[in-house]
Amino acid sequence: MSALLDRRYFPAYNELPFDCYVNLAFYHERNGILTPAFHWCFMAEIMDDTFAQTSFLRHRLEAKDRDGARMPILFYLDRGVTLDTTHFKTGNTIFVRYAEQHAFMDGSNGLRIENPSSFYVVPYSLSAIVEAHRRVTSNVCNKCQKKATLRCAKCKQAFYCSRECQVDNWTDHKAPCRILTKVAPVTSLDHTRFMEFELFH
Ligand SMILES: [Zn+2]
Ligand SMILES: [Zn+2]
Repeated sequence: MSALLDRRYFPAYNELPFDCYVNLAFYHERNGILTPAFHWCFMAEIMDDTFAQTSFLRHRLEAKDRDGARMPILFYLDRGVTLDTTHFKTGNTIFVRYAEQHAFMDGSNGLRIENPSSFYVVPYSLSAIVEAHRRVTSNVCNKCQKKATLRCAKCKQAFYCSRECQVDNWTDHKAPCRILTKVAPVTSLDHTRFMEFELFH
């Protein structure tokens, strides 16, 4: 099963730790330093882009998590750091590593992003992304369900028992393959063990 389907590693908004105190379900203390206990990633679909407005201070997105809960995402980047807003569009999905709940001064609750490398946006809806991951199972042929060890060279996530099954399956696999490949920077790491921060670029 892809880690993306596991709520421990891809939690909903209300399952994220708060940034105002240390949540020991998410953090370990090692030699007096707090580090994440594992890798987690928040994912949310960008809502109506009338919300995606650049105020004179901050860029703000309105997003919806895997449970349908809505929250604002605000960008607090250092002066001189340019924000790539190319994919900030309705229906696209944003991934944020090590995300935490933040209470803003105005009483609202959402994500406060300070590191431009902590997020990654893909041009697919959250439901399409989840569905593409549901459709592949490790070591099981994507076509005939037999035990399989060969993998699709593009997404590296769909397994096949033979070249024939892969060719047969291509019409069905083409669309999810594109999604899996695009989301690979998010999923292609061992979420269970934290060694160092894994950011996107
Ligand atoms: Zn097969
Ligand atoms: Zn593939």
